[in-house]
Order: sequence, then C-alpha cells, then structure tokens
Amino acid sequence: MTGSIHEWRRGRLGVEVPVGDAGGVPGSPGPPGPGPVPPLRQGHAGRTAAATPEDDRPLQPRWCPLRGVGHRDARAAGARLGHRLVLPAQARAPRGVLRRSARQPGGRLHPDAGYVNDPRLAAANLAAAAAHRGARFAFRQRVTSLTRAGTVWRATIDGRDPVEAPVVVNAAGPRSSAVKRMVGATDDFTIGVAPMRQEVHHVPAPSQLLAPDAEFFVISDMDLGTYMRPETGGNLLVGGTEPECDPLEWIEDPDAANPHPTVARFEAQVTRAARRFPDLTVPNRPQGVAGVYDVADDWTPIYDKTALPGFYVAIGTSGNQFKNAPIIGSLMDRIIDSVENGHDHDADPVHYTCPHAGHDVDLGTFSRKREANTESSGTVLG
Ligand SMILES: Cc1cc2nc3c(=O)[nH]c(=O)nc-3n(C[C@H](O)[C@H](O)[C@H](O)COP(=O)(O)OP(=O)(O)OC[C@H]3O[C@@H](n4cnc5c(N)ncnc54)[C@H](O)[C@@H]3O)c2cc1C
Repeated sequence: MTGSIHEWRRGRLGVEVPVGDAGGVPGSPGPPGPGPVPPLRQGHAGRTAAATPEDDRPLQPRWCPLRGVGHRDARAAGARLGHRLVLPAQARAPRGVLRRSARQPGGRLHPDAGYVNDPRLAAANLAAAAAHRGARFAFRQRVTSLTRAGTVWRATIDGRDPVEAPVVVNAAGPRSSAVKRMVGATDDFTIGVAPMRQEVHHVPAPSQLLAPDAEFFVISDMDLGTYMRPETGGNLLVGGTEPECDPLEWIEDPDAANPHPTVARFEAQVTRAARRFPDLTVPNRPQGVAGVYDVADDWTPIYDKTALPGFYVAIGTSGNQFKNAPIIGSLMDRIIDSVENGHDHDADPVHYTCPHAGHDVDLGTFSRKREANTESSGTVLG
C-alpha cells in the first residue's frame, strides 16, 4: 500500500520510480485469498493521528478506481481478484444498533467510517494507478542487499540486474526491520519496530445485525478488547485490540508465520464479541485470516529520513495505517523534497497542510528519533 501510493505521487511529479516487490501481487506476500481486512477507522488517539485519516476520507471512496488510473486497469484488477471494494459513498443517518451503541457511556459514533473488504484489490488499484503514471513494477523480486555507491543506492535483487536510484524508501511492511538491517541505519532510532502476528475472525452475524435497519460499520470495544464490523455473506468480522490477557505474538520471520487462524485465538475473540451480541454463536471450526503487523514501540508509524543520505523509511504502520495510504505518499513527498533540497528535518521538522481539512501536521510526530507518543492507545487503534 505504502509503496504504491508513494510511487503514484512521485509518478505525478514525473519522477522515474522502479519498484522491487518480493510478492507476486501488490501487498504483503501471503496465502492467496483475502489478506488483512482493515476498517477505515477515524477514531485515533491524538490530534495528528486523527488528522491524517480524517484528511484521507474524501480520497478513500475513489480508490476504486483511483483518480488517474485507467478504469479498464482497475476493473481488470478487480476481475482477476474477483472481489469488490466496499465503501460508503456518503454519511448516513445512524439507526438501530449503531445509534444504541453510540448512546453507551463513552460511546462515540463516526457515521462516515467505512471499511475495505478486499485490501489486496485496493493495493492492486494503487499499484495500477502508479504504473499508469510510469512506475515500473517487478514482482517476485526480493531485494537482498542495499549499498550506497557515490550518490546512488544500488539494490541487489534476486534473479535480476541490480537497480540504482538516488533515493530509496523502505516501505517493506512487516519486513521493514530486515530491510533496515541491510543498510544498518538503526543507531539513531529511539523507536523500534518489530513484526507481530495477528488474527481476525469471521462468524455468521447475529440476527440483530442482519435486520434491514441495522446500519452498522465498525464497533471498537476497548472494554472487551475487540473490534467488529460486518463481513460479506452475512458474516461478522471480529478483531482484537491487544487486551492484557492475550499474549502478544512477536515473531522473527514474517515468512514463517502461521497463516491460519488458531482455535485458541478464535474462541477467545469470538466469545468476547458474543458478550455484546448474545445471539452470536461460536462455531467449532475457526474461520478468518492471520497476518503480520509491523509494530512500532508506541504503535505510531515512522515516516522519516534516516542518518544515511537518500535513505527514507515509511515503516511501523502498527496495524492501523491502511486507511492512511493515500496521504502517506504526500507526507513522504514533503519530507523527501525538503531533505533532498538541504532542509534539516531532524532539527526543524517540516510541516504538512492537509489539502482537504486544512489541518497543520508537524511531521516530527512521525520522527524515528521522537519520544514515545504518549497520546497513543498503545494498541492497534493507534
Ligand atoms: C490482520 C491485519 C488487520 C489490519 N487491520 C487494519 C485496519 O483495520 N485498519 C488499518 O488502517 N490498517 C490495518 N492493518 C494494517 C495495514 O494492513 C498495514 O498498515 C498496511 O498494509 C501497511 O502497508 P505497507 O505498504 O506499509 O506494507 P505491506 O502492505 O505489507 O507491503 C510491503 C511490501 O513490501 C514488499 N517487501 C518486503 N520485503 C521486501 C524485500 N526484501 N524485497 C522486495 N519487496 C519486499 C512486500 O512484498 C510487500 O508488497 C491490518 C493489518 C493486518 C495484518
């Protein structure tokens, strides 16, 4: 996601962008079928964290197709993947379950929130848009080393000629630590990142949510450590918000992570959801998907330069930056252009003005050298 939107932005500026991707399709390599299933939540902790998805909101319904991509490309990608992008086109009046949830003490309602039921299609659409603007993608090409030679970076790629570029952006998702280690640009990071395995589960939706007036998009339930949203086919999707009783599954190698949901996690998460929806049944066989987050120490992403010339990072997306994909390209553009033109972003962080909502975002918030973000919820909700 991050790589594609960045390439799309640079392509718009006429910059030539070669892209090496270890996967066979845009987005994290993994088992075929739907990948992570991200709601486009607007309710982030902290002003900056909330400002960026807020500004993305007008862009999100346009991902399919994104402005600038040929409609045919987008449709072709959709046909290949055989899925649909679902987004509410406009805010709707809350009714039924939604209205009752918002009335709970501490309840908050975001009537224009939505979700994408096929993140791979969204990633494919962004990649198609970037390719339309001249980015050159090479799939199934793993970058194995990165070295600086004079004023350019040289990426060695499995089974292919090396690629050279003056600027490199590490947007390797859960494999970002491995790419960071290739260049050794780690000493001045105060915030670490590491891969964490996670599961989200699918169950038949309870009857209350199937009622015609049950307009229901996403429920974040921090008391029970779950979030829920509708899934296609009359199902409910249940995810977790790292409650203290659940062990965190830090892993060394994302490629070796178990891609299947487990009985223990399934029963724990779905049982929590059933405490809110007593009609919900807990099937015997776990259903859902497993994925890997690239978690930063404070669950806030790092969008920054590094100590090495021309080497940038868009990492630590902490399971909550899918919704921000359209804006990440612009933030990285702003940082790269300033730094490459001699600005000291570490000493005097550049700012970004959100084009839609007009918020001023201090990009030092995403610095690799920041103090841990104390406004973060310390969970996937950011
Ligand atoms: C289960 C789950 C649920 C989630 N739910 C939400 C949600 O509700 N809301 C939300 O906003 N976000 C959510 N996310 C997070 C969101 O999916 C990520 O923030 C987003 O996908 C990160 O995008 P990315 O481009 O940084 O990384 P990725 O999409 O992982 O892309 C990284 C790319 O780098 C490539 N790569 C890695 N190493 C190499 C190498 N050495 N050489 C070449 N290519 C390489 C990979 O092939 C991949 O294509 C969820 C994630 C998971 C796993």
